[in-house]
Amino acid sequence: MRILEIASEAVPFAKTGGLADVAGALPEALAGLGHEVAVVLPGYAAALSQGLPIEPTGIEFDVPIGTRTRPARILRCHREGMRADVYLIANGELFDRPSLYGGAHDYPDNAERFIFFSRAAMELACRLGGGWDILHCHDWQAGLVPAYRKVLYADRNELGVARTVMTIHNMAYQGLFWHWDMLLTGIDWRHFTWQEMEFYGKLSLLKTGLVFADAISTVSPTYAREIRTSGGCGLEGLLAARSDVLTGIVNGIDTTIWDPSADPTLPRAFGIADVEHGKEAARAALAARLGRPAPDARPLVAFIGRLVQQKGVELVIELLARSAGNGRAHFVVLGTGSEDYEGELRRLAEVYPGTVDVVIGFDEGLSHLVQAAADITLVPSQFEPCGLTQLYAQRYGSIPVVRSTGGLVDTVIDATPEAIRDGAATGFVFGRFDTNDLEQALERALAAHADGPLWRSLVANAMRRDWSWRASGRDYARLFEQTLARPAVTVG
Ligand code: ADP
Repeated sequence: MRILEIASEAVPFAKTGGLADVAGALPEALAGLGHEVAVVLPGYAAALSQGLPIEPTGIEFDVPIGTRTRPARILRCHREGMRADVYLIANGELFDRPSLYGGAHDYPDNAERFIFFSRAAMELACRLGGGWDILHCHDWQAGLVPAYRKVLYADRNELGVARTVMTIHNMAYQGLFWHWDMLLTGIDWRHFTWQEMEFYGKLSLLKTGLVFADAISTVSPTYAREIRTSGGCGLEGLLAARSDVLTGIVNGIDTTIWDPSADPTLPRAFGIADVEHGKEAARAALAARLGRPAPDARPLVAFIGRLVQQKGVELVIELLARSAGNGRAHFVVLGTGSEDYEGELRRLAEVYPGTVDVVIGFDEGLSHLVQAAADITLVPSQFEPCGLTQLYAQRYGSIPVVRSTGGLVDTVIDATPEAIRDGAATGFVFGRFDTNDLEQALERALAAHADGPLWRSLVANAMRRDWSWRASGRDYARLFEQTLARPAVTVG
């Protein structure tokens, strides 16, 4: 198949969250299965200034945006050893900004930025020509692509059969904009209805993608079920109606970047056989990073993630306020996000020096070191489409304590007596979004930690799980093949 991946971020070009990990690794997994894959990304200033081998292609065109046009300059990155070509759509005015989507507030012209991106991706797909089998669109930023394919680009032979697949990485981000932004899309107002592009008076780019796509996927089977009922952020009805083409595929992880046996950010590489030595060395390095004279002998409990409500930060804060004082564990929090959460966490670090360490910031290298050093990683999310932190934790021998939601259900096996007996247990799962439940699950984990042989078996089970993209890549390829085998969906 000839596949075009259209995403607003991808490692190593630009990253704010899990989407970037997926859009960085999936193309290579698909290419490894023998498919021809290209990727389209916005040409953010940050992506262009990282020393990656990015070159002009000579392809330049004007993109119609409402009554005017905006220029797109196409750059290409071909990295040694990588099979997928990455195309970057450069436009200084729209993408030469300090961050991807805005700081504390979204950029006011995000509608225009990503309408431009989606339309430019369609134009590029036409100009590259040769016929495409699949246009794989990620999240609201690429949500217009399925509509463009069906409405403005239906008769373009250069696109070939080009079926569209829309992948949802998080229903909570829907790309909702002022209805007048509809004018920027170039799509006729007759599509601005509740059955198509409108959502309670606004233009919804995610909904648009979900309506027009030939197939829909999301990043875990449990989340695919949840969003049809209560977790669909208002789009449950639409997703239920499209359930015949809605599937869940768990994300893989980039096992070349996340490999404790060959991770250059760690002081000592390790595998299952020498995990204890590896963790000891990581802990010493972490202590030095945190400005502590020596590593802490207590179990190390980590939280790494965006400091937003979804991630259960309030439960972590309440847990620390309640139980850090008992001194049974050393907590390390690495994250950035809401100023309120950041402030509360900083205060807890002041109240419990040496027991609660808080690093505010986004630090990829430090996240590797923390996972390697940690015994336990907390992922108490309110909802979690897939979640990568618990996958990295397992690979690095840190046992996840997770809430029973979305992809966390599909990727962590609770340490019940049966699962322990069967050698399947890899973590601790709790039910309600409640600090008591989190606390009890952490208690279970700490009790297990005190039982050496049991802990070693949990760590070995967790580290043995295969999260490589091979399996997920095959699932996506199967989804694409099934989508190609069906007639294209008609809308309206
Ligand atoms: P989401 O995409 O909702 O943020 P995921 O668990 O799918 O959540 O992916 C989050 C990714 O970002 C993981 O790779 C995680 O390790 C990383 N991450 C989150 N916050 C930080 C941080 N402050 N520093 C380094 N890495 C972080």
